[in-house]
Amino acid sequence: MTFDELGLSPEILQAISELGYADPTPIQAQAIPFVLMGRDVLGCAQTGTGKTASFTLPMLEILHNGRARARMPRSLILEPTRELATQVAENFEKYGKYINLSMALLIGGESFADQEKKLDRGVDVLIATPGRLIDLFERGKILMSDVKTLVIDEADRMLDMGFIPDVERIVSLLPKLRQTLFFSATMASEIRRLADAFLMNPKEITV
Ligand code: AMP
Repeated sequence: MTFDELGLSPEILQAISELGYADPTPIQAQAIPFVLMGRDVLGCAQTGTGKTASFTLPMLEILHNGRARARMPRSLILEPTRELATQVAENFEKYGKYINLSMALLIGGESFADQEKKLDRGVDVLIATPGRLIDLFERGKILMSDVKTLVIDEADRMLDMGFIPDVERIVSLLPKLRQTLFFSATMASEIRRLADAFLMNPKEITV
């Protein structure tokens, strides 16, 4: 399987070719076609497998093809830590280099003012840790009624860090009709329960 066979736009293929990626990793080859079909995905994969590109590349493709009415967030990526959120945002910018999208990185430990200013200008994509996202929502700075794609990344770490109630609250604020991509390094019973609650007929992928 090559990147050319996955159904990604030339703008995205150009960006990944400049990064020197030759072929998709197994999780990318398995997940990307299903994400592009609009399916929910339950991915069991560790960091280092190319998991980030397996959801960011098709998400970029969907955003690139979809028509934005206003700049309201259409995609939301939840990460358990600031570091992971920052890494995902960096990758998102690299892969989306030739696509005109606006993204906000919403993490704790940074000033509210800068994040609020960014949100006020309108963004297509939110990459956030749960606590900061809820704080900004409560300040009335985020509308999530247009979110069509949700990524819950590193669900097992979300669980370990006690973030599941926050994640459940965030999911309750999103449209029911959406695509959800859920990743975890392990599939303990509590993680399965969450996956069952958040996903609809997911394609399960284990690498
Ligand atoms: P991740 O598992 O998402 O944290 O990715 C691990 C590392 O692999 C990152 O540094 C990516 O830039 C890199 N990477 C992701 N996909 C590919 C690929 N198809 N070919 C080469 N490197 C990749």
